[in-house]
Amino acid sequence: MSSKKVALITGASRGIGKSIAIELAKNNIDIIINYNRDEKEAEEVVKEIKKLGVGGEAIKADVSSFDDCTAMFGAVKKKYGNLDILVNNAGALSDKTLKNMTKEQWDFVIKINLTGVFNVTKNALPLVNGGGRIINISSIVGLTGNFGQTNYAASKAGIIGFTKSLAKELGKRKITVNAVAPGFIDTQMTKSVPFIRKKIIMAMIPLGRAGLPEDIANLVGFLASDKASYITGEVICVDGGFSF
Ligand code: NAP
Repeated sequence: MSSKKVALITGASRGIGKSIAIELAKNNIDIIINYNRDEKEAEEVVKEIKKLGVGGEAIKADVSSFDDCTAMFGAVKKKYGNLDILVNNAGALSDKTLKNMTKEQWDFVIKINLTGVFNVTKNALPLVNGGGRIINISSIVGLTGNFGQTNYAASKAGIIGFTKSLAKELGKRKITVNAVAPGFIDTQMTKSVPFIRKKIIMAMIPLGRAGLPEDIANLVGFLASDKASYITGEVICVDGGFSF
């Protein structure tokens, strides 16, 4: 078993999750990369992490499956014993106005984004060391709402309630639980936003640019560090001023 701290990041095969994995690896933490579909991308992230001198591996699990999550943390327990940092990052979209949204679209997003956070955290909790960190990736949309995203906004608002409640439950074990609410971040998730819509969004961001995955990873790195031991139950926006 490793003497380093150990972190598990869900949905870390690309985008924000990948960036968080690299940031935590730079802080000398062993990293477990969770992914669902893209094994090749996940293994590439593991290679990058190992170059930074820490341990790393990829574990496939669909966060919307409780059984997959049980199996994943069974494997983590066997190899690492305990966990210091959990980042609930995996997420998905299926946008439509409520008028046109199907029950399948609603269930798909809630099952990954919100039930997934339950499935992962419930299975991880027995392994999380006292003084550990749970960091949940929400969205500013969970605070502001967004046209065509009732399912996504509800899931991200649900994460905020989950975060605050769990922070109250785990304070006595000195485990902090916080949420990060990104604004418009340049990843595969936002690639399909039409050019004109992107231009409108950019004009609404005081700092005048889309966020980078690293902008989110920098904050997660801080929240995961010893320097953030007195911060819990917070929702911190990283959005270039978009939502204030
Ligand atoms: P992304 O590039 O689409 O990456 C999503 C990640 O989640 C991938 O690694 C994907 O892995 C994984 N994933 C999806 N479904 C999964 C499942 N059922 N089980 C396990 N992993 C799953 O998106 P991103 O922009 O980096 O988003 C990361 C998080 O930030 C999400 O929670 C998202 O809602 C949130 N966020 C993003 C933005 C933004 O503007 N980009 C803004 C606010 C919040 P596989 O392909 O292997 O399944």
